[in-house]
Amino acid sequence: MRFDYLIIGAGITGVTLCKLLREKAGKSVLVLEKETEPGGLCRTVKINGHILDTGGGHFFNTKHQEVFDYVFRYLPESEFNYFDRVSKIELNNTTIDYPVESNIWQLPIDEQISYLISVVRNGESARAPIPTNYEEWIRWKLGDKICDTYMIPYNQKLWGVLPEEMDIDWLYKIPRVDVEEVLRYCLERRQDVNKFPAHIHFYYPKEGGFQRIFDALADDERSFIKCGECVNSLQFKEGYWLVNNKYEANCVVNTIPWSDLYNALDVPETLEEDFRLIRYNKIVVSLYEQNYNCNWHWRYIPNIEKSYHREFYIPNYAKDSKAGGIYYETNEKRFDAYEQYADKPALLQVKTDAAYPIPVIGHAKAIKNILEHYSHIGLFGVGRWGQHQYQNADVSMHEAIKFVGEI
Ligand SMILES: Cc1cc2nc3c(=O)[nH]c(=O)nc-3n(C[C@H](O)[C@H](O)[C@H](O)COP(=O)(O)OP(=O)(O)OC[C@H]3O[C@@H](n4cnc5c(N)ncnc54)[C@H](O)[C@@H]3O)c2cc1C
Repeated sequence: MRFDYLIIGAGITGVTLCKLLREKAGKSVLVLEKETEPGGLCRTVKINGHILDTGGGHFFNTKHQEVFDYVFRYLPESEFNYFDRVSKIELNNTTIDYPVESNIWQLPIDEQISYLISVVRNGESARAPIPTNYEEWIRWKLGDKICDTYMIPYNQKLWGVLPEEMDIDWLYKIPRVDVEEVLRYCLERRQDVNKFPAHIHFYYPKEGGFQRIFDALADDERSFIKCGECVNSLQFKEGYWLVNNKYEANCVVNTIPWSDLYNALDVPETLEEDFRLIRYNKIVVSLYEQNYNCNWHWRYIPNIEKSYHREFYIPNYAKDSKAGGIYYETNEKRFDAYEQYADKPALLQVKTDAAYPIPVIGHAKAIKNILEHYSHIGLFGVGRWGQHQYQNADVSMHEAIKFVGEI
């Protein structure tokens, strides 16, 4: 049988594509998934009564009404708890609210002075030209102090590459700083949460962790997903694709990192450098039991001496999780299986295959070239990996909805 669409990867993008291609566009679909179960980054396990999202900290919100409609159709809003985000930053042994620039007043007074001087003297205020790499850009935007104590070490820990190797085209994710506002918040000792750079509220399933969302969407799609089938060969024949030498499809949609398809595809020389620029990192999540008494959801840890970069206070958002569960996210490059982050050994440590697409300099042009080349012959890319962008699950679902809408 020749399928209309073959989808590579059964994460939340692949499953959304499958559902909509079948139900809305009436297409025949096959999804191939290399693991023994679908879900990708949106998987959850329950261990010793603790809920662990194995792809790292996952929370649901979106600015796209279509995505709310889509998700709540399969998992009603009443199945979620809704939270005001409580996220913190550990800065030189003091814990302050996120983001730093709005909460300088929470630091000791001498620190406040040096942070404020540094913000006022940032490159933007001095009308210096806009830099082109990430390190210079954050110095220009936020001033040296926030960069040196927080942004640079935190980002280096998270991404696993030097900020100077990174592009600036993804920086809409980074807090915007208005110097006058920074001074005002500090003097008034308050922050305006409406100016938050990211979601100030979020949804989290009442039960079953983040995977509950994936499961609700995937329920009707299971018979179209073939697990344990790693895509390692993609041949373009006359007018169709032959995948792994056995599946035929008119079109293929890729939802995995393009660089992982390098050996499966016949890559022309002109695209070799572009494939090289498609880079991603991996993270490890480590679950521990620890006593704590706070209402935090998560905390950012820029201190370079600690290997992990974020910690999650699980029962504060996963209400079906036992007290005392905490987990840490660590870039795989910094992870040492023998290092212990708490008094007792970890209950579980899980490594992701691919966590963040790294925005190295030149990545945007590279993915554009790849997508342009292959879309002409019916091989498309959708989602966090397919489009190689820092997309959250809601944006990946939105891209899948858009893709099917344009057919
Ligand atoms: C640490 C972290 C925190 C995040 N926090 C949030 C958050 O708070 N909120 C939010 O909405 N989103 C969050 N995200 C983003 C979210 O995880 C992704 O946007 C979303 O899961 C992407 O889904 P996907 O299907 O595109 O990719 P994936 O989930 O990666 O799925 C790809 C699938 O392809 C499979 N695969 C790989 N190679 C092959 C192959 N050769 N053949 C066949 N199958 C293959 C994989 O096994 C996987 O199942 C976070 C991500 C990370 C890493």
